[in-house]
Order: sequence, then structure tokens, then C-alpha cells
Amino acid sequence: MTFRTRFAPSPTGPLHLGHAYSAILGHDMARAADGAFLLRMEDTDLQRCKPEWDAQIVSDLEWLGLTWDEPVLRQSAQLEGYMPAIDALIAADLVYPCSCSRSDILAAQSAPQEGVTSPVYPGTCKHRSMSSRQPGDALRLHLDRALAQFQGNLPSFVETGTAHHGKHVITPDEAIHKIDDIVLFRKSDGIVAYFLASALDDVSQDITHVVRGEDLFEFTPIQVLLLALLGHASPIYHHHKLIRDDAGKRLAKRDDARAISKYRGDGLSPHDIREMLELAG
Ligand code: GLU
Repeated sequence: MTFRTRFAPSPTGPLHLGHAYSAILGHDMARAADGAFLLRMEDTDLQRCKPEWDAQIVSDLEWLGLTWDEPVLRQSAQLEGYMPAIDALIAADLVYPCSCSRSDILAAQSAPQEGVTSPVYPGTCKHRSMSSRQPGDALRLHLDRALAQFQGNLPSFVETGTAHHGKHVITPDEAIHKIDDIVLFRKSDGIVAYFLASALDDVSQDITHVVRGEDLFEFTPIQVLLLALLGHASPIYHHHKLIRDDAGKRLAKRDDARAISKYRGDGLSPHDIREMLELAG
């Protein structure tokens, strides 16, 4: 199997040290395996993603000396391409329309029944059929019907990162608490949820290994389950350690002090960045 991986940032802020770690690690793994490294912009959130950040990220990755083997894939340029997957889930009766707002969901959750661990979504619209769909409705996965499809044999995935190394079989409990009746599509943005679009592109781009931060490990069962429902095998996953700030907090996009552009401006070299990240080789 040829090794094919990708770096898939959402251009909602500058590339910081944590992203750089992910990109360099994936890039170096691909080069060491004589495989391919791709760059994908996960810019389906048209409100938060900005072309300026996209351009800055590309410039910073180039400055770091990374090269990618295919043209950059921008999800915003192919939004319609995700709809057949949604349609397939609708046709399989695995989706229902939902008109709950965020505040409706929080209100329903504020009075939990004692001794009952409720799933994240209280299930207000779960009884609805697609024929009751209104123009502003979101679409949710009907988890119970989705799990029933597997007749007890829930899908599994292989993880090569150190923290969760090995074969990981999704359990019903994990599915109920982590996957839940997730929103797959929101009409307000007209977009497919990030984890579905991302997993579909891993398939369409023939990604064999997903190299990404440990913070995304918890979304992996969702992606593996959705891919399995759509008849796709999942790639191998490699979740790596997170780069933290001095106080031990995970770096976020707002931590501009750790932005690669800031280090560039301060006169550091790409090699200095690799050394800081212990990826100098
Ligand atoms: N676009 C996601 C992010 O920037 C990463 C998704 C992935 O690597 O699977 O957090």
C-alpha cells in the first residue's frame, strides 16, 4: 500500500506551532515512506474561514520547506460533491430533520432525570420523518438505526499513534456518548458537517494514513461509523501529541504569539522551528 497522507487545516486563523508539528510530521512520514503528502483546506465554514488565512497558511508551509504532490483541494469549491453521501443516508432512512436551536437543546438538558445519562442531543425531533422536513431544518443522524445496520458488529479502525495504539472497535456505549445523533447538514450554512466532509475527502483522495492531533481522536469513531454506513473502508489513523504552551494548554488559533508568521518575522529559520518541535531529524 502506498502511503498517502494529508494536512487538512481549516483556514480560520494563522498556522501556529501545533499545526506546523502536524504538517511537518505527516510530510516527513510520507517522504520517508516514498509516499504522497497532500494539502487540503477544510473551508466549508464560509463564515469563519478566510482567504487571507488560507494564503498565509500556504505561504507558511512553503516557507517551512514542505511540498505537496497534488494541487490543493479546497472543500468550499466542491460543496455540492458531499450531497450524494447525505442523500444516501436519507435513502437508507438514517437521517431525520431537526429544528432545535442550540438554546432549545441546552434547555432540554438542564433538567436531567436522575440516574439517566442522557445523550448530548435530547432527541426532541427524533420522531420526525424526512417528509416533515422544513426549509431551515438541520439533518441529524438517527444513531439507533445506524447502529442497528451493523447487527452487533460495529466497525473498527487501526490507530498507530502511541496514546491509543492498536485496533479500536467502536462500542455501542462510545457511539451513544461520543457520536450521538450528530448534525450532518445545516441549512443555515448550506454545508455538510466538518467530520463528514473530511472523512469523505480522505476516501476521495485515497488517503491511507490520517496524521493529525490527539484532540481529534475523539471524533474518529464518528468518521469511521459514517464511512462504514456509506460502504467505505476507513484509513489508518495516527494521532500525535499536541504541542502545548508553557502552562500546558493546547495551542489554539488565537495564540498568535505562537503563529509561524510571528517566528518568521522574528528572524527564525525553518530549521529553528523544526528544532523547537523536536522534528529536526
Ligand atoms: N480541519 C481540521 C482542523 O483544522 C483537521 C481535520 C483532520 O485533520 O482530520 O482542526
